[in-house]
Amino acid sequence: MKIHVDRDRCEGHGLCAEQAPTLFTMDDEGELIYHHEGRDIADGQVGRARAAIGSCPVAALTEAP
Ligand code: SF4
Repeated sequence: MKIHVDRDRCEGHGLCAEQAPTLFTMDDEGELIYHHEGRDIADGQVGRARAAIGSCPVAALTEAP
C-alpha cells in the first residue's frame, strides 16, 4: 500500500506521527514529513499506517492502491 498525503488539508496536528513514527515526523516548524512519499509501505508497517490514517482529524491521509 501507499499513503497519499493531502498537503492542503494537513494542519500539522501530528497525531499520525504518534501512531506511526517510522513513517511520519514533524519538523521544527510543525510541518509534516512523510518518509515514504511515493513508495510502498512494508507489510510489517501497514497496521501502523492504517492507524495513522484513522487518527488524522482532517482526513488528510488516504490509502492509495
Ligand atoms: S494527523 Fe493529519 S493533520 Fe495531523 S500532521 Fe498528520 S496528516 Fe497532518
